[in-house]
Amino acid sequence: MKLSIKSLVGPNIRSLRAYSAKEIPCSVKLDANESPYGFEIADKILKSIKTNRYPDPEAKTLKKIIAKNLRLNPENIVFGNGSDELIYYLITVFGGPVLYPVPTFSMYGIISQALGEKRIEVPLDDEFDLDTDRILSLIKKEKPGIIFLSSPNNPTGNCFSSERILKIVEFASSLVTRHSSLVVVDEAYQPFSSEKGFLPMLNDYKNLVSLRTLSKIGFAGLRVGFMIADKEIINEVNKVRLPFNLNSISQAVAAELIKNLKTIKLHIGLITSERERLLNELWKIRGIKPYPSEANFILFKVKNSDKIYYRLLKKGVLVRNMKDVVNGCLRVTVGTKQENSIFIKTLKEVMK
Ligand SMILES: *Cc1c(COP(=O)(O)O)cnc(C)c1O
Repeated sequence: MKLSIKSLVGPNIRSLRAYSAKEIPCSVKLDANESPYGFEIADKILKSIKTNRYPDPEAKTLKKIIAKNLRLNPENIVFGNGSDELIYYLITVFGGPVLYPVPTFSMYGIISQALGEKRIEVPLDDEFDLDTDRILSLIKKEKPGIIFLSSPNNPTGNCFSSERILKIVEFASSLVTRHSSLVVVDEAYQPFSSEKGFLPMLNDYKNLVSLRTLSKIGFAGLRVGFMIADKEIINEVNKVRLPFNLNSISQAVAAELIKNLKTIKLHIGLITSERERLLNELWKIRGIKPYPSEANFILFKVKNSDKIYYRLLKKGVLVRNMKDVVNGCLRVTVGTKQENSIFIKTLKEVMK
C-alpha cells in the first residue's frame, strides 16, 4: 500500500494552498507594493556582522533607533521576521475566532486557517469602509479573540474611518459586558497616508495594537516588521516568539539604513505625488475605474480584467490580478515616474 502524506496532515492544512509568491519575469514590476527605491549597503556594515554568533534576540540597537524615530518606549515594541510573522504570533497567543473585514490582506485568513482558528469575514460597505453595526453584533455573538483592521486597507487603498475603528476598539474593550477582543490596526501603509495613524491612541486603549513594517518603504528584502502594544501584550507575544527570529544581517542593515530618515521621507513624497498623477491618468482612460488611495498602490476596476492582466504582462508590465479578492479588479503599485508612465502607456495600448 502507498503511504498518503495527505492522510497525515490535519484537515485545516489539507484544504490550504501555499501562498503563491512566484517570480514572474517582467520588465516593469508593479505587483507587490514594494518601494521602487532601494538602498545601498556599505561594506563596513556587512563586515561588522559576526556570522558565527547568534543575533541579538531582542534586536536592542534597532529597537532603540525605531523607538526614537517614532517617539515610543522600546519596551512597547517587538520585532517579527516581517509583520506576517507577528500576525502568526498574535493569532497563536490570542486565539480565535479571528474577525476581519473583506476584501483585505489575505494573510489574516491563511494564518487563521493554518492554526485551526475560526474565521469571521465581514464584507466592507459600498465605500470600502467598516460595517460597524455588523461587526459590533458579531463581537457580541462570536466573542472573537482578535480583530484585524488593515488601515490603509490592502487591496482597496483607503483608510477606514477612525471613528469607526475606535468604536470597535471601545466596544471590544468592554469589561462589563465581557466582549473583550484584541484589535490590531495593521498600519503597513501608514507612511503613505494623509491621516496620522493610531500610535497616539495606544495609551488610551489597552486592547489596541499597531502593526508596522519596513517592507513597503524600501526594505522588503530585510523582512523587518514590528508591533507596538501594551507591555503585557508584548510579554505574551514574546512567549511564543522564536528566540532569534530577526537575523543579524537584517538587524545591522536596518539599524544603519533607517538612519536615512530624510531620504526615506523623500522617497515617500515621490511615491505619494506619483500616486496622485497615476490616479488622474487612470481616470482619463475609458473603461477604467480607479479607487482613491492612501497607500502606495491603486486598485482599479476594468472589464475583462483577466485579459488586461495577461496583455499587460505580455508587454512586460506586471500588476496584481485581484480576481480572487475583488472580482474584476487589478492592483498596481506606484513605481518610479518612468515605470508609471510605461504602465499608463501600455494600459492604453491594451485597452484598445
Ligand atoms: C505587505 C503587508 C504586510 C506584510 O508585511 P511584511 O512586513 O513584509 O510581512 C502586512 N500587512 C499588510 C496589510 C500588507 O499589505
